Amino acid sequence: MRSGFGETSEAIFMTSGYVYDTAEAAEARFKGEEEGFIYSRYANPTVAMFEQRMALLEGAEAAAATASGMAAINAALLSQVAGGDRVVASRALFGSSLYILEDMLPGFGVDVTIVDGTDIDQWRTALAPGAKCVLMETPANPTLEVIDIAAVSELAHMAGAKVIVDNAFATPVLQHPLELGADIVMYSATKHIDGHGRCMGGVVLGTEEFITETIGPFMKHTGPSLSPFNAWVMLKGLESLDLRVHKQTENAAKVARFLADHGQTGQVLYPSHADHPQHEIAMKQMSEGGNMIAFELLDSAGKQTKEAAFAFLNALNLVDISNNLGDSKSLITHPETTTHQRLTPEAREVLGIGSGLVRLSVGLEDPDDLIEDMGAALEQTKD
Ligand SMILES: *Cc1c(COP(=O)(O)O)cnc(C)c1O
Repeated sequence: MRSGFGETSEAIFMTSGYVYDTAEAAEARFKGEEEGFIYSRYANPTVAMFEQRMALLEGAEAAAATASGMAAINAALLSQVAGGDRVVASRALFGSSLYILEDMLPGFGVDVTIVDGTDIDQWRTALAPGAKCVLMETPANPTLEVIDIAAVSELAHMAGAKVIVDNAFATPVLQHPLELGADIVMYSATKHIDGHGRCMGGVVLGTEEFITETIGPFMKHTGPSLSPFNAWVMLKGLESLDLRVHKQTENAAKVARFLADHGQTGQVLYPSHADHPQHEIAMKQMSEGGNMIAFELLDSAGKQTKEAAFAFLNALNLVDISNNLGDSKSLITHPETTTHQRLTPEAREVLGIGSGLVRLSVGLEDPDDLIEDMGAALEQTKD
């Protein structure tokens, strides 16, 4: 969408409102009889460019951009469910998604059932009485648990449910949930889509009908709209998304291999490694393993501990400690004490988040430099 100036780079339409030539034109636009923008909470040209490009990339009919990834999940759920409805979701979800499901929705009379996403029998049982929505995240944060999107979608559709997939970790480059049977895909654009750790954003993708009839009114009236400036940053991110994700994946595969072969760490979880618990499903639905790795740091007695993890994190030079991910810089975090500290120890144990587990988001640095940094940190924290 170019303005009359013929700019190469997309224009930032940093405007909240729009003017009308006549009072009649304003009336016609509000009545929907004339095409055009009304107010940037409803729609904005720069945001619309980002939405159109995301829809093309995902192979979806339409998209709605949101202020953050959580705004996308919240809109995808709250625009669909009402008191009396049932939602079935996998347990290994982004912490704030669990907050919406477990702390908020039941308060509105929504019946929420949480299952082990890797156990198809649990999905079958939970979906048997029928459901409105299914939410899953695959690969999931932080243990990279993988869920069979096609199998769960089939069960969900028999139950009358719409399937929402949080595809943040795989990105539109490595996994296409709509082709596997999902109905709605969402992203935290804050992650790989921006890719440079600059701003927050999100996007929900689905059918034209779902975006205009269901999400559209929710966005318009509750207001989690994406800023035009952030949409512009995301548009710039999209230009190199494919290149970055492939290169970051190539780097991650090298780092994951190094860690697995090193011997000093505990379990190394990486979807394209044969010892990943859902390796087969991962390789059936993802084209590559992605840029995220989870692994355990051990003490001298071979036990995974917080001390071993902290010592390792503190010994790193090139890799920064941060809970963000998908950035072109490599970032590492200790989920137990950061992203998942809100959970009870029992809940963390069920999710496989041990005291020594760290989550690494591999960036665009030279992989040899990353391996050198990891190796030196392991050596330094040997005992
Ligand atoms: C970051 C993230 C979110 C939330 O996105 P924000 O942009 O931080 O609101 C949701 N799901 C997953 C898998 C994420 O990584």
